[in-house]
Amino acid sequence: AVIIAFSSSYITYKLVSKNAEYKSLKDQVPKRKDNVAELIGNTPLVKIQSLSNETGCEIYAKLELANPGGSAKDRVALTVIRHFEETGELVPGRNDVLFEGTSGSTGISFAMLCNALGYTAHICLPDDTSNEKLQLLESYGAEIEKVKPASIVDPNQYVNAARKGALELQNDKSTEYNGVFADQFENDNNWRIHYATTGPEIWEQMNHDIDYFVTGSGTGGTIAGCSRYLKSVSDKIKVFLADPQGSGMFNRVKYGVMYDQVEKEGTRRRHQVDTLIEGIGLNRVTHNFFQGEHCIDDSIRVTDEEALKMARYLSANDGLFVGSSSSINAVAAVRIAQNAKPGSKIVMIACDSGSRHLSKFWKEALKVDKNIQLKDILEQ
Ligand code: PMP
Repeated sequence: AVIIAFSSSYITYKLVSKNAEYKSLKDQVPKRKDNVAELIGNTPLVKIQSLSNETGCEIYAKLELANPGGSAKDRVALTVIRHFEETGELVPGRNDVLFEGTSGSTGISFAMLCNALGYTAHICLPDDTSNEKLQLLESYGAEIEKVKPASIVDPNQYVNAARKGALELQNDKSTEYNGVFADQFENDNNWRIHYATTGPEIWEQMNHDIDYFVTGSGTGGTIAGCSRYLKSVSDKIKVFLADPQGSGMFNRVKYGVMYDQVEKEGTRRRHQVDTLIEGIGLNRVTHNFFQGEHCIDDSIRVTDEEALKMARYLSANDGLFVGSSSSINAVAAVRIAQNAKPGSKIVMIACDSGSRHLSKFWKEALKVDKNIQLKDILEQ
């Protein structure tokens, strides 16, 4: 037994010292942290080998899915909470309630942080949100209010429901709790935290050398903050918006008009009705998108079909298991590469993991042949 134990640890030692991945464990091991809030940010950036080899460009993914709450929204949620603490609207331990209207990721980040920092999260979301996100919110014990999907002008729309809930609690004299409305679409802290952290992290991780940056827009905070920062440090970076079918942002960036005309019927298509993609695409200009719009050079529309195939391709070829919006970004990155100088460096955001999309997007993605080739992914 002694001999076996000795030889197996010797083999492990040999493997570890041979592999660059493990070599400098001592220098690279992250410092210990005091709570989950301290785990947010400083996410890894990884080269997507398959797409880089196939396109002749270097395509990198900023893994925002590595945040403790599973998406870039952790950064925003923490900043919004800290801001309310500074203004005195949230007081730790008073059991104040933070209201947010969200189709998923932001709610999960708030649920996680409210638990860690002494608040209650009340999340209003459309009732067609994927089960995994709902289960996560339930697991965190957040208060959940499901509403019917509706346009933003409808008072029962999820963002408006959250605003109303916060106001009611503020005006309720029978309790000492306060209610605050996080308002991720309009809250100025959203794009600013990406400007202050995500953008600079990408710039450092890329050794100050990037040709293209591409991501989608939900609230617009990520694209606005990152592109404003990246354009402030480099003249050569071009920023692309990746947009799902049914969203008006593609046309807004490309032609200056918002709505997508369906030629056949002459009617206006609405997002969420006809796409599997969650978290991005909109038919209105939010404050956060507006803050970065002048930095966006062009837009690329990606179909659901392309996104499903790309998700399958990335998982099969790179071991990257991503959600729907990340997959859209990867399709857009390949389109950029097709028109770029060989060797160009392209950075995309990997927003969240596929595990949040198993019952909806990934159920369909599994129908794609796992040996799919890149040339069969992009439509003309
Ligand atoms: N991907 C996912 C999965 C998201 O939940 C979101 C945010 N709604 C985004 C991308 C887009 O991020 P932003 O709101 O910063 O535009």
